[in-house]
Amino acid sequence: MTDIKQVQTEIITVGHKLIHSGLVTGSWGNISVRVDAATIAVTPSGRDYLSLQEVDISLVDLMGNQLGGNLLPSSELPLHLAVYQARGDVQAIVHTHSVFASACAVARRGIAPIIEDLVQVVGGSVDVAPYALPGTIELANNVVKTLGKKNAVLLANHGVLGCGETLSEALLCCELVEKAAQIFIYGQFLGGAVSLSEADCLTMHQFYDEQYRYRQGDKKNV
Ligand SMILES: [Zn+2]
Repeated sequence: MTDIKQVQTEIITVGHKLIHSGLVTGSWGNISVRVDAATIAVTPSGRDYLSLQEVDISLVDLMGNQLGGNLLPSSELPLHLAVYQARGDVQAIVHTHSVFASACAVARRGIAPIIEDLVQVVGGSVDVAPYALPGTIELANNVVKTLGKKNAVLLANHGVLGCGETLSEALLCCELVEKAAQIFIYGQFLGGAVSLSEADCLTMHQFYDEQYRYRQGDKKNV
């Protein structure tokens, strides 16, 4: 059985990492974890990550009803819930407004499958979900549709969402997308970033999926 307090602590730890790595500024962005079949833990709305305590992390059901936590859940809760409902394999979600990923998102240019670590973990290109206002069901639906079976998606004029089978994997997706976005932009300046072939992307993603993911002692559901 998953320890809720442990999940809340891990969410706070990842929140600190988002601030210290520069992936998030202020209280923007959000983090969630599927605690069990009926419970999602999610960062609260509009709070500084560095001030968060375990009791501040909201607990909600899959319909968004609050089950616990001192504060209101993130205003992007509909986005998180839609991804969990569409993707039974997703156990955690990290959403950031990081700079290079957002540059691609405002240009509405998806990040081509140009670098190996990105395609291994994310599963290929990072496509752009059509724009909708933050916090809306329309945005949630656009994101789910564009995300498909991959582990990351850009949100037009907004930011990036990464997901995975663990919280550390969802964070890794956001880190890899930010790095790939920077490489993609620089590559374009140098004459054009060259994409990996679809077959090579598939081979690398399958290798990661089947053989690499849990090698480093990463535990499912955390
Ligand atoms: Zn956002």
